[in-house]
Amino acid sequence: MKCDVAIIGSGLAGLSVALHLAEKKNVVVVSKGELLDGASNWAQGGIAAVLDSGDSHDQHIDDTLIASSSSMAAKRSNG
Ligand SMILES: Cc1cc2nc3c(=O)[nH]c(=O)nc-3n(C[C@H](O)[C@H](O)[C@H](O)COP(=O)(O)OP(=O)(O)OC[C@H]3O[C@@H](n4cnc5c(N)ncnc54)[C@H](O)[C@@H]3O)c2cc1C
Repeated sequence: MKCDVAIIGSGLAGLSVALHLAEKKNVVVVSKGELLDGASNWAQGGIAAVLDSGDSHDQHIDDTLIASSSSMAAKRSNG
């Protein structure tokens, strides 16, 4: 199979890049399992990303760590 770009992984990251490139390049997406395997299919709260000019990748990382540690702390206190 010939292509310009081979993308490994059919999650949000891979499919976003594929969509962006598909107009100008012959793109192939390769995944290790079913197309909907992976974390993207589980994200039900909307995808959180750095979109605002007042936000930053460092702040996004901090927010993610704070949210996950609060959720783990709540889980621990509920037994
Ligand atoms: C339960 C759950 C809930 C979530 N909820 C949210 C949410 O509400 N909001 C939010 O913003 N984020 C959420 N997230 C995080 C979010 O889903 C991930 O950050 C995002 O989907 C990552 O996208 P990705 O494309 O990088 O990875 P994935 O979607 O995991 O895609 C990875 C792809 O790579 C493929 N792959 C892996 N290894 C190989 C290999 N060796 N060879 C070939 N292919 C391979 C997989 O099959 C898959 O297709 C959640 C995650 C989980 C697990």
